[in-house]
Amino acid sequence: MTVLIDKSAPKPRHPEKAHRPDTEVKRKPSWIRVKAPTSKGYAETRKIVHDKGLVTVCEEAACPNIGECWEKSHATFMILGDTCTRACAFCNVKTGMPQPLDAEEPAKIATAVKEMGLAHVVITSVDRDDLSDGGAQHFVDVIQAIRAESPKTTIEILTPDFLRKDGAAETVIAAKPDVFNHNLETVPRLYLKIRPGARYYHSLRLLEKVKEQDPNQFTKSGLMVGLGETKEEVMQVMDDMRSAGIDFLTIGQYLQPTRKHAAIDRFVTPEEFKAYETIARAKGFLLVSSTPLTRSSYHADEDFAKLSAARQKRNARNRT
Ligand code: SF4
Repeated sequence: MTVLIDKSAPKPRHPEKAHRPDTEVKRKPSWIRVKAPTSKGYAETRKIVHDKGLVTVCEEAACPNIGECWEKSHATFMILGDTCTRACAFCNVKTGMPQPLDAEEPAKIATAVKEMGLAHVVITSVDRDDLSDGGAQHFVDVIQAIRAESPKTTIEILTPDFLRKDGAAETVIAAKPDVFNHNLETVPRLYLKIRPGARYYHSLRLLEKVKEQDPNQFTKSGLMVGLGETKEEVMQVMDDMRSAGIDFLTIGQYLQPTRKHAAIDRFVTPEEFKAYETIARAKGFLLVSSTPLTRSSYHADEDFAKLSAARQKRNARNRT
C-alpha cells in the first residue's frame, strides 16, 4: 500500500496530542471575561514585538490578559525559540524539534526593553531538553544584555526546571535576576497527567537552591487550579513552598487551550480564590496573587514594587 503524505499541509502545533481523543471545552463562567485587544497601546506593543521578530508567551500561550497587559506595554518575552521539547497537557506553546539558538536574541530583547521603557521585565522560555545546559547560558546572556542597555530595569525570569542539567540552575542564579520564578503548576498527585516530563520535588528544590545561593533574590511560583486538585492538596503545596522559602505565590484558573489539552475539572469561584489568598498569607508568603485571571506575569511590574515593600516591612519588624 502506498501512503501519500501531503507535505503542504500545515504541521500540527502539538503533534504528540494530535491523536488524543477530544475533550469537552467547558463554557466560561461570567467571572472570566476579558477585554478585547483593540487599544492603541496594544497595537504599539504588538508592532515592536513583531518588527523585532520576538516571541512572547502572551501570544504563544493565548493568554486571556493580552489586551490589558499589552495596552500597558507589559509583554513577557519568551526566549530560546518558539518550540518546546516537553509536551505538558495544559500548555499551548508549540512542541517539536526546536531551531538552533538565535545569537542575536539577547541584543534584540535588550533593544525592545529600552524602546518600551520598561521598569520591570519578565523573561521566560520554552523548555530546551536538547541543549546541554538547557539554555541556562542564553538566560544569562539575555539578563546581561538588558542590564547593559537598561541598568535600572528590574528583571524577573520564569525558567524551565533544568531537569538533568547539572549546574544550569546555578549558572542562572549567579546572573542575579531580581525575581526567580519557576512554576510548580499543579499538585504532586496530578504531575503524571498534567506535567509528565517534570518532577515535583525537583522543581521545588530548584527554588530552594535559589534562596541557598542568593537569599536576596525573590523567589516566586505559581499554581493553576481547576484541574481536579483538592483544597487540602493546594494547602500542602503552600506549605512545601514556604519550606523552600518561596516569597510570592500566584494562583489562577486553568483554561483549556484546545480540545486536545487536559480538560477543565471545574471553574474555581472568586470566593475560593480569595480564601486561598487568605490562607497563603497566613502561611507567611510575602505576596500572594490569587484570582481567576492571575497568571505568572500578570501585573508583575506592580507586584515587584509590592514585594520589595513587603520585604522592607518584614525586615523592619524583625529588627524591632
Ligand atoms: S498575564 Fe503575562 S502572559 Fe498574559 S498577557 Fe500579561 S504578560 Fe503576557
